[in-house]
Amino acid sequence: MPGKTWSTPVTAEPSQVIPCILCGGDRLKPYLGCEGFCYRRCTECGLVQMNPQPLAAEVARRYQEAHGDDYLAYELANEKNFLQLQELALADAGFAALEQDLLAQGRPVILDVGCATGALLETLRERGWETTGVEICTPAQRYARQVRNLDVRGLPLEANQFPSQTFDVVLASHLIEHLNDPRAFVREVYRILVPGGYFLLTTPNIGGFQARLFQNQWRSAIFDHLFLFSVKTLSPLLTSSGFAVVKVCTWGGLAAGTAPQGIKRIFDSAAKRFGFGDVMLIKGRRLAGLPV
Ligand SMILES: [Zn+2]
Repeated sequence: MPGKTWSTPVTAEPSQVIPCILCGGDRLKPYLGCEGFCYRRCTECGLVQMNPQPLAAEVARRYQEAHGDDYLAYELANEKNFLQLQELALADAGFAALEQDLLAQGRPVILDVGCATGALLETLRERGWETTGVEICTPAQRYARQVRNLDVRGLPLEANQFPSQTFDVVLASHLIEHLNDPRAFVREVYRILVPGGYFLLTTPNIGGFQARLFQNQWRSAIFDHLFLFSVKTLSPLLTSSGFAVVKVCTWGGLAAGTAPQGIKRIFDSAAKRFGFGDVMLIKGRRLAGLPV
C-alpha cells in the first residue's frame, strides 16, 4: 500500500455543511470514509467533496501557525522532484510552444498560485518571464522572497486585488483541491487573466485507476484535500466560469513500489494514453466574455 501525501494532522475544527460548489445541489451521499473526516459525492453532478467542510479561517491557520515550518521542510525536501514533475506536466500541456510565442512578443507575465518555495518561478524568471507568486504558508512565502528574491504574496488569491487582465498565464499546481471555494478561485483567475490567456491547473484525479483501487487509502484522500476532482467535474467548473478547456492530460498509473518497474512503466504509459492517470492537468483558455 503506497503512503499518503503529506497533510496537516486531523483535528476537530469548526465545520459547516455547504451546498455543492459545482451545481448548488444539497443531496450528498457518503463516498469515502477516512479517519476523522468524510468525503461525500453530489448526486446531481458527481463532485466529491469533504462535507461538512472546515471553515476557511481554520484551513488557513493550518499552514501558518502550527504547521507552516513542517510544510516548508516537506517542500524543501522534495523540491527537486516536485520541480521535475511540474516541468514534465507543463511539457505535456504544450507549454514550450506557448512560451516561445509569448517570449517572441515581449516579456510575458505569469502567476503561480500555491508556488511553495518558488523553484518553478525561479526557472521561469531565468527564461524571460515576469513572475509573481502567491503562497499561503508564511515560512515558504518568506523563503521564496528572501532566498530567491521573488515577488510572492499571501493567499487567498482574491485578497491580493491584482488588476484585471494582468497575467498571460496562471498556474496552480496541487492547489485547487485545498480551497474552500474553488469556484470563486476560478472566477478570480478569469478576471486577472488577459483575454486568450491560459490557466494550467494540476490536481489529483479521482477518476483515475489508483483512486478506484485504493478508495479511502488513496494517497490523495487526505485531511487537507477538501475536493477530489475528476476530468468530468473539473471541466464544467472551468467552462461555466468563462474558459474553454483546450487540453486534458493525466499521468501516473501505478504508485511507486507497488509493482515491478517494467510493469509500472507499461501501466504508466497506458494511464497517460487512456486518461486514467493519478494526477491530471487541465489547460483552460480564457474566453473574451463570461457565459450567460
Ligand atoms: Zn453538485
